[in-house]
Amino acid sequence: MTRFDANRLRETLTVADGAWATLLRQRGLPARTLAEAANVRQPELVLELATAYLAAGARILSTNTFACNRVALTQRGVHEDPERWNRRGVELAREAATGTDTLIVGTMGPSGRMLRVRDGDRGAIVEAFRRHALELAAGGVDALLLETFSELEELLLALKVAKEATGLPVIASLSFDSGPQRTATLMGETADACGAALDEAGADVVGCNCGAGVAHALPSVVALRAATSRPLWVKPSAGPPELDDGRLVYTLTPDEFVHHVPALIDAGANIIGGCCGIGPEHIRKLSAMVERRHR
Ligand SMILES: [Zn+2]
Repeated sequence: MTRFDANRLRETLTVADGAWATLLRQRGLPARTLAEAANVRQPELVLELATAYLAAGARILSTNTFACNRVALTQRGVHEDPERWNRRGVELAREAATGTDTLIVGTMGPSGRMLRVRDGDRGAIVEAFRRHALELAAGGVDALLLETFSELEELLLALKVAKEATGLPVIASLSFDSGPQRTATLMGETADACGAALDEAGADVVGCNCGAGVAHALPSVVALRAATSRPLWVKPSAGPPELDDGRLVYTLTPDEFVHHVPALIDAGANIIGGCCGIGPEHIRKLSAMVERRHR
């Protein structure tokens, strides 16, 4: 029985974690190692980051399993079976959260194919989502997190497959980085249309993550809130990284990050965390700010 309670999330403000892949790199994961493979090859690094997010005040922890989708991995030239990466990803999150009431959400990213342009084998994509969802569910996650999707149609498909396969609550989150106000997906679907479609399709939580960055997130949050009464999940990135000596560097400071957050809360965000470039120090500032507001 999952402890995930969407009604409760809708009435409260909850702090979630920050990024995984970009932060594991910052903490020394070699560029040649897929971030999710670290669950098996460098588990201490993953455990350390999970522990840092909890110490910073995160009450929802996502698993380091974003790319463990077989279609996505094949496209990246990875032919290893991700079952162990999924299993260890959940185990590490649970280990970090031992003795706390932290919710663990199993992260699933997109397939890397665009359904609308009939790119790729739909049957293979469905099967990849199904196995990803089942492997995370087997580890005992409280909910599934579908995040950083750039196409509504693919997210709706993943939502249906994940729900049917596991019966778990599902958080469905898109990346908005296009259009004049950065309120559209790469495929041109607007936040208001996406919010309405995900609500209709039964997503337990609707959200936006990554995208154009926290400085541009407000219009998308406003549009999603107007389109759905579900809890709103908001995990923006730090914004575009800069290239420094061949490495991608995110320059947004924790103070700059939290500067944008009150407006997101006022617009109706219920769960706030961060995506690419947002680490434990940003989450610590965020938690302190949320605590001050609700004292
Ligand atoms: Zn991101």
